[in-house]
Amino acid sequence: MREVRFHNSLSGKKETFTPSDPNKVTVYSCGPTVYNFAHIGNLRAFLFVDLLRRSLKALGYRVDMTMNITDIDDKIIRDSIAQKLTIQEFTAPWIKAFQEDIHTLNIEPLEHYPRATESIESMVEMIRRLQDNGFVYEKDGSLYYSISKFKGYGKLSKIDITGMKSGTRYDTDEYEKDDVRDFVLWKYPKQEGEHSWDTSLGKGRPGWHLECSAMIRDVYHSGVDIHTGGVDLLFPHHENEVAQSEGAYPGESFVKYWLHSEHLLVDGEKMSKSKGNFFTLRDLLEKVKPSEIVSHAKSIRYLLISSHYRTKLNFSISRLEEAKTSVARFQNCIDRLLEELEKFQVKAPIQSIDLGGEFQNWWEECLDSLADDLNISKFLANSFDAIKRINSALDSGEWKKENLQQSLEFLRRIDSILGVLHFQKEEISADEHIDDLVLQRQEARKNKDFAKADQIRDQLQSMGIVLEDTKDGLRWRRK
Ligand code: AMP
Ligand code: ZN
Repeated sequence: MREVRFHNSLSGKKETFTPSDPNKVTVYSCGPTVYNFAHIGNLRAFLFVDLLRRSLKALGYRVDMTMNITDIDDKIIRDSIAQKLTIQEFTAPWIKAFQEDIHTLNIEPLEHYPRATESIESMVEMIRRLQDNGFVYEKDGSLYYSISKFKGYGKLSKIDITGMKSGTRYDTDEYEKDDVRDFVLWKYPKQEGEHSWDTSLGKGRPGWHLECSAMIRDVYHSGVDIHTGGVDLLFPHHENEVAQSEGAYPGESFVKYWLHSEHLLVDGEKMSKSKGNFFTLRDLLEKVKPSEIVSHAKSIRYLLISSHYRTKLNFSISRLEEAKTSVARFQNCIDRLLEELEKFQVKAPIQSIDLGGEFQNWWEECLDSLADDLNISKFLANSFDAIKRINSALDSGEWKKENLQQSLEFLRRIDSILGVLHFQKEEISADEHIDDLVLQRQEARKNKDFAKADQIRDQLQSMGIVLEDTKDGLRWRRK
């Protein structure tokens, strides 16, 4: 197995990756807070998890991965009370929307998606251990973690706690960067209608940081090899996770490698709900014709994974267009190969076959790039070199059937990482044909060619298509 290196936030360096058990690499990623649609910045963080998963698998590891769903927090309580819904009623559609987004972006499902509200027992158990180990104090019915009691506090985020006034507390789930305070483990209910659990700790609900520590324990009965999240979670969230897990289970390894993914920006600023400068996946997909949704989602996926996870990425529509062109370069090459193969009466899908010399070398270089802290830029550069070579061989007609099959197998492996290509010849779909007719009709009307416009309208009518003017423009539907 080749050497794999990841940049570990704990050491601030690239380190050789040695999982506890190569047959089961355990990965935990902080997931969505389900009170609204995820924006594409959040989705960049989730796509990074997908890239990590696909890369580990391609590099020969078996994986067991978890992403939590935060279905209880300040915002969820605020909005569910306002809408007079129970927590479950309020979060259910947002959980579904998250699952749909993941599916649309071709993100592989993980092994576990635990929910905070279903893990209360393990959170109580963790607090009990922390109490036994002397980290917990009570104030007004809530329980707090005393960070001055944990010797290693600050080792992950490199935050300095000297000078911190001990006993200053934060009650809210989110707080200002670099403001070091004791954090809440168990919150006593404060408002009317606030959801709470009656437990051996008393009435209340868990603090946000506790959920990840408890779920990791719950799912793996140990720590994990890799923990991921966006850079904004490094402090205080992940620092607090370390304090909780290592405080509750002293002497045990909690996380071996911390991987943090950078932000998606808009005009140089972090995309965020609070700034209002965000797009959801749906915002972007609504802008295209129904028949283009699949290819648009592929461009979005490609754009969000094609910059290295530790670099900031500025989102713009022109970048999305560039991503579309790149995907098309891959796909055109596959389409040409499929066409050539038809001449040999070979139909896709091609069974997995061994790669020959040249192809094997390309693939090895691609794997080397991934093994180097998921260097996707190098991976793509290698892939495009290969595409150039394949296209020129196709131009000169120098290849035999075997070379064509190996090229396709090589591209299939590339797509096991990228997840944006297809390997069957696509017929132009019925929907695409209708989209096209509708556009032609609009064009004809614009040019005052009413005879042509009427003729297309009749054609659409005979196909059972109804045209409707909506606030989003002209739409069609079947009768
Ligand atoms: P949330 O649903 O707010 O808990 O966030 C889910 C994930 O999205 C976390 O890993 C965040 O770090 C990440 N995240 C939030 N905003 C951005 C952004 N603009 N770019 C990339 N990741 C983000
Ligand atoms: Zn977390």
